[in-house]
Amino acid sequence: MAAFSQEFVYAKFSEFYNGSSAEIPLPASVGQREFAFLLFKERIMVRHRGFAGISGLRLFLSETVPSDVYHSCAYYENPEAEMDKKGWLGADLVFDIDADHIPTSCNKIHDEWTCGKCGFSGKGITPESCPICGGQKFDTKTWPCDLCLDSAKEETVKLVDMLEKDFGFSRKELHVFFSGHRGYHVHVENDAVKTLDAIARKEIVDYVSGIGLAMFAEKAKGKSRRRRASNVFGLHDFGWNKRLKLGMQKFILNATKEDLRSVGVRSYVAVLQNKEAILKRCFEEGRWGSVKGVSVETWARIAEYVKNLESAKIDTVVTTDIHRLIRMAGTLHGKTGLRKVEFPVARLADFDPFKEAVAFKDGAVKVFVSDVPEFRLGGNVFGPYKRQAVELPTAAAVLLICKGRAEVVK
Ligand SMILES: [Zn+2]
Ligand SMILES: [Zn+2]
Repeated sequence: MAAFSQEFVYAKFSEFYNGSSAEIPLPASVGQREFAFLLFKERIMVRHRGFAGISGLRLFLSETVPSDVYHSCAYYENPEAEMDKKGWLGADLVFDIDADHIPTSCNKIHDEWTCGKCGFSGKGITPESCPICGGQKFDTKTWPCDLCLDSAKEETVKLVDMLEKDFGFSRKELHVFFSGHRGYHVHVENDAVKTLDAIARKEIVDYVSGIGLAMFAEKAKGKSRRRRASNVFGLHDFGWNKRLKLGMQKFILNATKEDLRSVGVRSYVAVLQNKEAILKRCFEEGRWGSVKGVSVETWARIAEYVKNLESAKIDTVVTTDIHRLIRMAGTLHGKTGLRKVEFPVARLADFDPFKEAVAFKDGAVKVFVSDVPEFRLGGNVFGPYKRQAVELPTAAAVLLICKGRAEVVK
């Protein structure tokens, strides 16, 4: 980012934090949280700051104008003290769902990498080493596209469903946010989770990821072949059992020969010829070994496939870190100029990040765009642009500059 483009973005962030439009909701027990800020020009992180209330924080934001604002998920006796002297009291349970962790068909189209050594660049997945000079440091450019954000939303829907139905959290305890970039955050604020340690949080991570499910244990022991399917394989109607049962039922109902083969089912003929019997005897009556040719192995393979579909793809380290800093709701994301915004769980299906997270509503500016795919923002569609000057609304210009795709035309 050129200095004059950075000055433009800084000026817009400053207007935002000095204006009255910036409604910034405070996290619970704000006085027990550590705050951290990434500075625009210095690119350093200022940490271990504490605020008693909104006025001190607002003043800090309007004077400092950071590019990114974070607070701890944790509650501390002394949030401003050094790490080992803070006095950890507990932490919210947080989940991060980011398109970086979800394979999408579009990252080959919109993601770019540039060699830090020689400047050679390419599209798609970043290589291990530069094909020209062998350098291993890259500057990567990703793009927050509709498809990426829709996949992140699908993962969020699965996660929230598990938190509600399997863990029993109420909607009041679940806070869902658009992260401001390529994903969603889910925060659980509840006394029962507050004091869970990293190991307990890892158990929750494993659950939502479908790791270590008991129904696969028998197979792992190698006993399955000799025993009848009904003795080894069974699914009851709660939690993962229910999720697998419903998912497998749906899979069998719609399965083609190709589907079954791609999942690794060798007895696909038996499955295809006995669909009705399977759905009735196995799924309705629980007699998993009652259809000839449909073995424990068949069930295990289909269950494994369905487990991968139904598990939520989260960034696991975020949830297990009990000192984690997380972006503060209402503030701007330094890579997009979009806000992290909370919305009700019930609105997950229709929430539109490219409309509802837009912070800059006025003005336009001329920018020179290097390369950007077609994108949607604030109800309008822009681009694609390639090496051209174009006048854009402020929000679109800030997004492109922050993402390293454009510079202000002086
Ligand atoms: Zn190179
Ligand atoms: Zn994408």
